[in-house]
Amino acid sequence: MSNSNGKPLQISIDPESGFCFGVKNAVTKATAELADGKPLYSLGAMVHNPIEVNRLADMGLVVIDHDQFASLHDAKVIFRAHGEPPSSYSNIKDRNIKLIDATCPVVLRLQERIKEAHQAMTKCGGQVVIFGKKGHAEVVGLIGQTNGEAILVENEADLEKIDATRPVEFFSQTTKDIGQFMKMVKILEQRVPQFRWHDTICRQVANRGPHLKQFAAGHELMIFVGGHDSSNAKALFGMCQQVNTNSFFIENIDELRPEWFAGVRSVGISGATSTPSWLIENVKARIEEIGCRQR
Ligand code: SF4
Repeated sequence: MSNSNGKPLQISIDPESGFCFGVKNAVTKATAELADGKPLYSLGAMVHNPIEVNRLADMGLVVIDHDQFASLHDAKVIFRAHGEPPSSYSNIKDRNIKLIDATCPVVLRLQERIKEAHQAMTKCGGQVVIFGKKGHAEVVGLIGQTNGEAILVENEADLEKIDATRPVEFFSQTTKDIGQFMKMVKILEQRVPQFRWHDTICRQVANRGPHLKQFAAGHELMIFVGGHDSSNAKALFGMCQQVNTNSFFIENIDELRPEWFAGVRSVGISGATSTPSWLIENVKARIEEIGCRQR
């Protein structure tokens, strides 16, 4: 294939794009459960990607919220990779719920650590503090380990909520920015005499930034595939833009515009941790078609 200049069009998929292992594991479990044709309920959407959500819905996955879950009985339910608070596990046997727990092992371990820290802090009058996004499913599950007592900080201004005279154990939601977390650690180290912090940011996400920047800088045109509502996708796309102004964000192949590819010799394609590999492959195939038409 070549472009309008007669030069070959090189299209590369970022080898580190696509689902992180936690999401991959959860989607694999859901797909396997759906194979028997019986209804499967997911407590919240499995991924922040409407295309993948629709694919799973076509297979029979029904997304429900916590209110619907509370009144559900005689059903099979999957908990997604983000994890759930302890309250979601109560009374499920009484309601004859068969649970498929697809909580990511990294999130499960973090939940345990926060629970242990909360028990220790309760004994000494201390505080568990979590850096995270209010209302995010993972954060709801983490705060649930502390009976809702953990202090949530979303930014540096929120650090004022912490009583510096009492001990503090500081954690982070797995997908937060490590630079922001470390800035808060430095501030709290100065303010709080009895302070311990735990780097609980998942490297499946944190390590992607530097690699993605290198990948995006190495191509004339960068296509980033992600859900328009996914914060992970927006953050990663922002990194592409920092190093390559010729970067475009799409959710689906219909959004690809042929004029983007005129005169271009190399295209890089990447996606968020919630973007399925099959969608990225479809994007590549569509770009190949566009390139063929422009020859
Ligand atoms: S980002 Fe990390 S912690 Fe979160 S689901 Fe993926 S692998 Fe698990």
